[in-house]
Amino acid sequence: MINSSIEYLKGVGPQRASLISEELGINTLKDLLYFFPYRYVDRTHFYKINQIDNTSLDIQIIGSVKSIEEQGFGRKKRLVVFFSDEESEIKLIFFKRIAWIKKFVEISKKYVVFGKPNLFNGVYSFVHPEMELIDDINFSLSTSFQPMYHSTEKLKINNLHSKQIKKLIRAALNKLKGQIKENFSLEVINQYKLISRAEAINNIHFPENKEKLNQSIFRMKFEELFFLQLSILTNKSVNKKIKSYLFKNIGAKFNSFFNSLPFELTEAQKKVMRHIRKDVLSGYKMNRLIQGDVGSGKTVVALMSLMMCIDNGYQGALMVPTSVLALQHFRTLFTICKDLELNISLLTGATKKSDRKKILTNLENGGVDIIIGTHALIEDSVVFNKLGLVVIDEQHKFGVAQRAKLSNKSILNPHVIVLTATPIPRTLAMTFYGDLDVSVIDELPPGRKEIKTVHKFDKDKEGVLLFLKEKIELGQQVYVIYPLIEQSEKLDYKNLLSGYNFLSKYFSRLGYVVSMLHGNMKTEEKNQHMEDFLNKKSQILVSTTVIEVGLDVKNASIMLIENAERFGLAQLHQLRGRVGRGNTQSYCILKTPYKLSHEAKYRINVLVDSSNGFDISEADLKLRGPGDIMGTRQSGLLNLKISNLVKDTDILLEARKCANNLLEIDSQIINPKNKMIKEYFIKNYSEQIKWARIS
Ligand code: ADP
Ligand code: MG
Repeated sequence: MINSSIEYLKGVGPQRASLISEELGINTLKDLLYFFPYRYVDRTHFYKINQIDNTSLDIQIIGSVKSIEEQGFGRKKRLVVFFSDEESEIKLIFFKRIAWIKKFVEISKKYVVFGKPNLFNGVYSFVHPEMELIDDINFSLSTSFQPMYHSTEKLKINNLHSKQIKKLIRAALNKLKGQIKENFSLEVINQYKLISRAEAINNIHFPENKEKLNQSIFRMKFEELFFLQLSILTNKSVNKKIKSYLFKNIGAKFNSFFNSLPFELTEAQKKVMRHIRKDVLSGYKMNRLIQGDVGSGKTVVALMSLMMCIDNGYQGALMVPTSVLALQHFRTLFTICKDLELNISLLTGATKKSDRKKILTNLENGGVDIIIGTHALIEDSVVFNKLGLVVIDEQHKFGVAQRAKLSNKSILNPHVIVLTATPIPRTLAMTFYGDLDVSVIDELPPGRKEIKTVHKFDKDKEGVLLFLKEKIELGQQVYVIYPLIEQSEKLDYKNLLSGYNFLSKYFSRLGYVVSMLHGNMKTEEKNQHMEDFLNKKSQILVSTTVIEVGLDVKNASIMLIENAERFGLAQLHQLRGRVGRGNTQSYCILKTPYKLSHEAKYRINVLVDSSNGFDISEADLKLRGPGDIMGTRQSGLLNLKISNLVKDTDILLEARKCANNLLEIDSQIINPKNKMIKEYFIKNYSEQIKWARIS
């Protein structure tokens, strides 16, 4: 019953049901019950208008409408309702749906108004509050915490506001009375002092009192995080039992690659190589995440692993997020392997049709040893002969599903290595990478000097130019980065181009050349500019963030970021990581206008003060939610309804411990006392188990 369609609820029907499904993803009664309020209005008492203060959240007042006034014109038009409780007056302001409100609101009638008071220039008002008419006959005011539900424009047009959603939920709860089953064992309930599932679901929508509400919220968060962790932990143990290829040989390709390296591996790199070695000799599929700050040398480790794969007669694939990076990896490998009789191909969205066809044929008949590419690699037309290892570079740029798709292109499961430079706090890693084994490269190659990071205002332009000139005269190279943001793309391109023109003019007089790289250029043009920079024919590379990930030019020692205030912390850190790769002292110059928002100032300061990726990601996490950090694709996949991976860290750790304990004692969850957990888990999490199995 709990899984029956909402269509049969009173007042829904097929049309509304499909609208609700489209807009909110709610299909079943269970979905509806798990559509939690986003806030509650305290309707246990009425405020007087003159009692309204800064701390009040959602409150209600009672009074009558004195007058109504339309103010402003065009887009600035608004409706002001003057509302009074006989002692004092407050304005209710509406910017939208003015005609409708004019029709609904009547002078001298009594209303309950509720919402969040808004302080502007020292005066309180309500912007778009909710209003309920009190007609004398039906004076039935609720005296409780009223749940508020998110709705959408489209739903509202169809008269499905918070209030109507509330009604539907009430109806669903009535229908399911006595049918909401417990999904925890008695043991867990007692240990964590949880209220029952039925009580929690009832109270989270219609709280009896504040205490019950808090208990309900805790219970639902705990439940959500427990089952999430349980699925992650079981995935991991399932993953560990998937058979895969043995890479027994260390052969000619690996050895000559290794011997051609112009440096010693760091201890951290050696450690990670040992982890990988052990994985590929186990007979089971490797699922390893390699985490290391920008410049820590992850790529080398990945390339060595690919050599190992080929020495054992399998094909390898390397997937990266941008075609610029694909090209760079391709060149590195090509140079190193030119005497090795290796067949390396490059496949990106820009690959010519005729070339593509040839590459695909070769890939399928085993003629290609290593393929390097972008998303183009996961298209269905790409078929491997015997794919043994998949490496995914800059994993944070891809979604879990994409990772799964590539590793699915083999009869047996190929080994998977994912690389990421985004250090994330432990609780997030537990969730997002929970099904992977993790190796950390916690050491930079020796001889690196710390990059000096400075903040300069636009008015210091002359000084910055002189500084660049000085460094270029010493033979060093410079990146100049401009923001390119979709919403303001046109203007951003204009800035980039005029920046490029200015620098070209300025530096050509001195006999220097400036290159440029951005997404709107033709591939050949892009390659030419890139090549010029790599061959030191040009001294400056003006670019958008396409170079953000992975690019490796040792001679480049200065990173100048224009409009640095418009970039996020992680992005700035990645960009800065493009320099400081050789032995010369490197610099990162963050250029901004003089006037900055608080948050922008904070971000710039974090960068100036710290070069540690971990500290920066912690700061980033405080500014933004985990969803943004991990990419919406990934967090969307988790489908969290109530918990927040950052704010609910404590509950997450408890829930994880609880799930861990359970699996330790009852790994298959077959003990009868855990039956309820098992049933709920299978019903609701089997989809997630599937994706993890192929990741
Ligand atoms: P990332 O971890 O950001 O992918 P890369 O693999 O691009 O880092 O390595 C950064 C630079 O450091 C490259 O130029 C690489 O050749 C160099 N490098 C890697 N490992 C070492 C090492 N052990 N000693 C010296 N330089 C190294
Ligand atoms: Mg890299």
